[in-house]
Amino acid sequence: MPRFRGPTDLHLHSDHSDGTEPPARVMAAAHAVGLGTVALTDHDTTSGWTEAAEAAGSLGMTLIPGMELSARHEWRSIHVLAYLFDPEHPNLRALTDRIRRSRLTRAQTMAERIGRDYDLTWDDILAQTAVGATVGRPHLADALVARGYVQDRGEAFAGILHPGSDYYVDLYAPDPVTAVAAVVDAGGVPIIAHPAGRGGLLPDGLIRRMLSAGLAGFELGHRENREPALGALRALVSERDLIVTGSSDYHGLGKPNQPGEFTTADAMVSRIIERATGSAPVFP
Ligand code: AMP
Ligand code: ZN
Ligand code: FE
Ligand code: FE
Repeated sequence: MPRFRGPTDLHLHSDHSDGTEPPARVMAAAHAVGLGTVALTDHDTTSGWTEAAEAAGSLGMTLIPGMELSARHEWRSIHVLAYLFDPEHPNLRALTDRIRRSRLTRAQTMAERIGRDYDLTWDDILAQTAVGATVGRPHLADALVARGYVQDRGEAFAGILHPGSDYYVDLYAPDPVTAVAAVVDAGGVPIIAHPAGRGGLLPDGLIRRMLSAGLAGFELGHRENREPALGALRALVSERDLIVTGSSDYHGLGKPNQPGEFTTADAMVSRIIERATGSAPVFP
């Protein structure tokens, strides 16, 4: 089997979800900072894989096909990064189809609520969303920016789109244990994204149940992770010899995150590749 080459960034978004650039541009941005291996991890979709593989290959980079699967535990949104799974697996497909359908009606409902107080219609959101993309609050944010109501996505998320706002609507998202199990079932490798972010440390019981379901590790290198939750997870991964990744969560112009700002050690990338049975890396 050919070898991948580092440095490796395992978490990037394109306009197939809420990144602002098509997959080929994302690959070019990754290449420009010297990355050798990248994963495209759009929310709840694999539709960008083909374009990303072609672009990565022509730039001499290895592509790890991936996805960021939406899940929820009580009030807390949990993102499960999934690598090298079978994109046709029926369980996982059913799950992502359901999430994506819910995201669409949820975005429409939020747009309607916002439209009662602001001059904003569904067409404004469509204008910010690539055809077939997984829609999310970032597209609503972009529509609010285009209308001049906010300066950027950050301001929209802090106010109009905040979960505490009257305009906010929840999306359907599976329990994290169900999400992890679906990824494993599809031959993939599940890693919890930004696990020490805004919500603080994940409950112990949830972590244990996710590990029993086949959770492989944690994205400890991510700009949103904070102490003391990060320290607790460092102790856990060394005790249980789990996989640790580091990634940028690049969203094009949609976030300040830059490709390669965190990277994943070669040994960890190898472990992900060896553990997966659902699909293979695409070598240049
Ligand atoms: P949603 O899944 O539709 O509820 O939206 C959550 C997405 O919005 C996540 O994928 C984040 O990447 C993005 N997001 C969250 N907060 C911000 C922010 N302050 N600025 C830009 N994007 C954000
Ligand atoms: Zn996102
Ligand atoms: Fe995320
Ligand atoms: Fe992400």
